[in-house]
Amino acid sequence: MNRSDSERISGVLEDMGYTPSDDENDPDVVIKGIVACSVRQKAIDRVYGRIRNWNRSKSVRPAISFVTGCILEADRDKFLKLFDLVFPVTQLTELPDMIRQYGVPVPSGKSGDLDGTLDGADALDGEEVLSPELKRMLPFWNLTPLYSSEAEAFVPIQNGCNKFCSFCAVPYTRGREVSRPSSDILKEVEALVEGGCKAITLLGQNVNSYGLDRPDSELSFPGLMRKVGELGKRSGREFLVYFTSPHPRDITVELLEVMAEYPVLAKWVHLPLQSGDDAVLKRMNRRHSMERYRKVVADFRRILPDAALFTDIIVGFSGETELQFQSTLEAMREFRYDMAYIARYSPRPGAASSRWEDDVPPAEKERRFRILSEVLQQEAEPHNRSKVGKVFRVLLTAPARRKGWLSGYTEGRIPVYVQADPSYLGQFVNVKITSARPLSVEGTLAGPAAKAGKAALKAAGTDSTGPRGGTGQSSGTGQNTAGKAALEAAGTDSTGPRSTGQSAAGKAALEVAGTDSTAGLPGVPGRPAVCGEL
Ligand code: SF4
Repeated sequence: MNRSDSERISGVLEDMGYTPSDDENDPDVVIKGIVACSVRQKAIDRVYGRIRNWNRSKSVRPAISFVTGCILEADRDKFLKLFDLVFPVTQLTELPDMIRQYGVPVPSGKSGDLDGTLDGADALDGEEVLSPELKRMLPFWNLTPLYSSEAEAFVPIQNGCNKFCSFCAVPYTRGREVSRPSSDILKEVEALVEGGCKAITLLGQNVNSYGLDRPDSELSFPGLMRKVGELGKRSGREFLVYFTSPHPRDITVELLEVMAEYPVLAKWVHLPLQSGDDAVLKRMNRRHSMERYRKVVADFRRILPDAALFTDIIVGFSGETELQFQSTLEAMREFRYDMAYIARYSPRPGAASSRWEDDVPPAEKERRFRILSEVLQQEAEPHNRSKVGKVFRVLLTAPARRKGWLSGYTEGRIPVYVQADPSYLGQFVNVKITSARPLSVEGTLAGPAAKAGKAALKAAGTDSTGPRGGTGQSSGTGQNTAGKAALEAAGTDSTGPRSTGQSAAGKAALEVAGTDSTAGLPGVPGRPAVCGEL
């Protein structure tokens, strides 16, 4: 969610004529911003560390600083004394005015004037009375993001959460659930698909509650996914649509059946377990039992037999006994996850459980973490080994660490490494799997891509075993010709997709703080950290 927020912030700054910079010490940087995340104290501590450094360097190199994102009230008061600007993302449309008031130079020819163009209310039935939450979110959602990748994009469909899990601060920082108008979501998805995007993730803290805040006037989540599936059929293009995160209480058979019906809906579900013990689930206020979770997984396996199942688990939650941990261990074996993001519990300020004793010692949390990690590997490896010799459709998304190799993922988001020319970045290719590791596989290009790939590698001066000399093309950050072209095209169309990559006077450095260490897909860059389910 933070990455998606930062793409909209970058879009506003780019509209003012600023260009992104990864280097906060670059002498041209005049704006420095952080998208904060309050789910972990460590992430917030990093925000304090960063602003102290920035403020120290201000006497040498003046810059305006801002912080936005998930901020608890207590931190907000402290941030006001340290940052030039502190604002909720819902006030992003006012950022150009805030910056102008500070007298910061705005690159010539760009006004960044967003007033009056973005209320988004035209997407709704004219008769509908808008809730204050929806009124606040519409202008933000309707900002054009500066996508950080041409091949993958994240589209927010909902904000906030009504679940109040005892370990989570999201309902306090992001507020109650509010659904983005489906017509706007579909417009953004269509523009991305027409622009060549290959993997789109629909984002929300609790996606299967989509539409429940306006049951009489908005689609349900399965209804929205059906519309996306139809859009895929009409487009004739190859792309995949993911969503994260669903809640086990609200996921329905109807949703799983819609996923089975449409090829563009990726056969992948990230279904947070958190604990395999009913008493712990109750203390976590997860509002579902193990019986309910078992039923959802049984429906999932029956309706989508080849789909991948991911999860989140917390070990060492306040009061978790050895016996309760053993129940989680059994659940991990029972559900045979393809991937699990396992977190050692730490109290999150603002969440209900932060008032309870954090009574599982760190060494014990570590032991439980290691045991689950080993079980994950034992359970996932046979799935991956069974892929050897078979051909999979793979989206290649980034250069791998090994020279001459690229990384990507299958439809089920299993990381794949393949020796291929960088011209394949951002494309789907057929890959024959040749070997498997517990959490990833390796393969070779198969079919027409293999022939073209060999020719490209030869032309580029490398053979099938040696590293490649040239830099090739990069689709990730848009620092290439393709990136510039996409950006220029976007400049003429306020609704079309765009990605980073241009040079002009005035730079802005933006940091996404608090991406959770458990939330990154190993070898699969670009997975968003969704604040809620960690
Ligand atoms: S963990 Fe997820 S479902 Fe629970 S309160 Fe946080 S965002 Fe909501």
